[in-house]
Amino acid sequence: MTQARIAVLLALDDLAGHPSADEILTAMAPAGLSVSRATVFNALDDLSKVGLVMRADAGPGAVRYETATSYHHHFVCNVCGRVTDVPCVDSSAICHEPGSIDGRVDGAQVVFRGTCAACLPPQR
Ligand SMILES: [Zn+2]
Ligand SMILES: [Zn+2]
Repeated sequence: MTQARIAVLLALDDLAGHPSADEILTAMAPAGLSVSRATVFNALDDLSKVGLVMRADAGPGAVRYETATSYHHHFVCNVCGRVTDVPCVDSSAICHEPGSIDGRVDGAQVVFRGTCAACLPPQR
């Protein structure tokens, strides 16, 4: 583990939710950690390869990251863009059997889209 990786992991742990690499970079700045954007990206890449960081698949836009917990899906609000966790029914990395894929499947993440409770118009 390099210093940069540890710093990125700590910053990610401090940030609640699903930050992008740029948000992680911004969060590291006040701690006097001057790392480059490329270093943050590389560290996130390495950390996800060893299973300490999960990539949150939230569709278009910046890739979001989180510290690895149990396997889960995401709900993205079409109005405010908030990403929230959706528990996976069986917590296994592949909960959807693909119909036919030529190769090995390592994971499957579902993105649920809709409107979050805060953005829904008040019920009458
Ligand atoms: Zn919303
Ligand atoms: Zn998540």
